[in-house]
Amino acid sequence: MPELPEVTTTAKKLNEILPGLEIVSVWTNYNSKYFYGKENIKDPKYFLNFKKEVVGKKIKSSDRIGKNVLLNIEGPKTILIHMKMTGHLLYGKYKRANLEEMSNGIREKVFGWVADESGPLQDKFNGYIRLVFELSNGKFLVLSDARRFAKVCLIKDGKINNHKDLKNLGPDPTTKKFDKKTFTKILNKKPDGRIKNILMEQELISGIGNIYSDEALWLTGIHPEEKPENLTAEKIGALLKNIKNVLNKGIDFGGDSTSDYRQPDGTPGNFQKHHKVYRRKEEKCLKKGCDGTIARKVVGGRSAHFCDTHQKLIS
Ligand SMILES: [Zn+2]
Repeated sequence: MPELPEVTTTAKKLNEILPGLEIVSVWTNYNSKYFYGKENIKDPKYFLNFKKEVVGKKIKSSDRIGKNVLLNIEGPKTILIHMKMTGHLLYGKYKRANLEEMSNGIREKVFGWVADESGPLQDKFNGYIRLVFELSNGKFLVLSDARRFAKVCLIKDGKINNHKDLKNLGPDPTTKKFDKKTFTKILNKKPDGRIKNILMEQELISGIGNIYSDEALWLTGIHPEEKPENLTAEKIGALLKNIKNVLNKGIDFGGDSTSDYRQPDGTPGNFQKHHKVYRRKEEKCLKKGCDGTIARKVVGGRSAHFCDTHQKLIS
């Protein structure tokens, strides 16, 4: 799932391209009975209204809160996009096409969209086009989402701070305001919780997921199941520093493309080439002087990767 560095990369790059462009039309093939009556374009009724509200509006900026991309448009209104598992936004030339798709074991002809330019947009991870914004410069902003878990909705009054998906998010660990005092206060809320799960709990800290929590804990030498109450003030300070460092490193590398994530031009990010621990199960630990091996364990429903030697449980 895209985490803070991937969502930042997308929002930042889109902010260099989209401001000033008008949304000419919108198309989607998301349609899920589960979402009927909910605030989500997967409800066709909701989408109809969404379309009415956004067509003809100019995009003002692109931003990020937590793992959400926000497209601020005239109104003011805000399009909220949570990429969830496999979603990512792409920008370029697209055209309508007749495609084939498997549905209940049957190959069906369906109408869809394909990239109308050679290069990275042709990458197979970019080919699951579920949502298309046609823009006034003849190009398109599209959402590729193989597993269809992404969420898209409209905040009609532009009051993002009151929106239910955003108002309960914890503070952003990449900001200056997120200091040792803030971090310690958060950890004190769950003194006997498991540190990996706490780092990933969006209501406590926003933006961190599986990859960057594993990397930060490895760097600090903390077991993913460690209880915050066992951590010294010094360790907490070191963990905070490492969280900020790995997230910034992720941003510098254009995000992580271990899974489906791609940047808006269709190219992969590069952080996956710099993992010290994530998905390195049974490989030798890369820490200098450590002869440990990377282990994998499910912690609170998520897989944690850690060194069996320099990340021991304190108690
Ligand atoms: Zn080690």
